[in-house]
Amino acid sequence: MKKVGLIILLVVGIVTAFMITFMSNEIVIEEDKSGFPGDTDVKTIQEDDIHKGNLVLINENYPVEKEGVKNDIQTFHPEDFKGVQLLDQEIQLSQSISQKFMDMAEDAQHDGVDSFTITSGYRGIEAQTLLFKEMGEDYALPGGYSEHNSGLAMDVGSTEGLMANASEGKWIEDNAWKHGFILRYPENKTSITGIEYEPWHIRYVGLPHSALMYEHDFVLEEYLDYVKDQKELYASFEGKEYFITYYPYGENQQIELPVDHEYMITGDNMNGVIVTVTM
Ligand SMILES: [Zn+2]
Repeated sequence: MKKVGLIILLVVGIVTAFMITFMSNEIVIEEDKSGFPGDTDVKTIQEDDIHKGNLVLINENYPVEKEGVKNDIQTFHPEDFKGVQLLDQEIQLSQSISQKFMDMAEDAQHDGVDSFTITSGYRGIEAQTLLFKEMGEDYALPGGYSEHNSGLAMDVGSTEGLMANASEGKWIEDNAWKHGFILRYPENKTSITGIEYEPWHIRYVGLPHSALMYEHDFVLEEYLDYVKDQKELYASFEGKEYFITYYPYGENQQIELPVDHEYMITGDNMNGVIVTVTM
């Protein structure tokens, strides 16, 4: 009996250690990588590829190109609202990104944070131009220069009060990155983003990028510079491993893609593309 008890204890210990290692939110980054460690095929990228995908930079210098608008925009009517409210019934969102948001809202609900209100989603260029006239340049961007024009961003409030003070705002700040979202305009980065602190504006970039940005305290502008500098990097997060490669357009229209792994190609909306392989 003693032996059996010891074995059970050992198994429990090993399983716990495994779970701590692989299920924790710790992100491991290795920057000195060269070459994808597997079979690859060559693909030629087009100029259009620079302007579409989840990592496109959209700011006063880089407007949304037509190919940068998500192709799954629809009026938001989820089957299960999971405690999330809408400011009005006209809100439009990318179907895939709203699904990620609802998964995140469910996670927040488990933490007792369940008073989210979606106040804005996708906005067409005309609606953005109108908003810019109303709000002014410190709080809004001209038509075509807002992340809302791409469908990649949404504004999220709390029915409990201002996001800067509400538990919803705190939760987003601490946890959104685990779900592929970033707080796009943080308080300590206004000189880089050119936009005042907006605790309500979240932007989807996807994993592992949101985790890397959180780890380094980078806003998107800084992160894209970093990826461009690194050219290749490896990251692991929640038991998944990723290999990230940056390709400048023009120098390199030929990119390497893995034969037997999932991958995502996204432009940076400046002059390159980033390939993220899930290993
Ligand atoms: Zn916004």
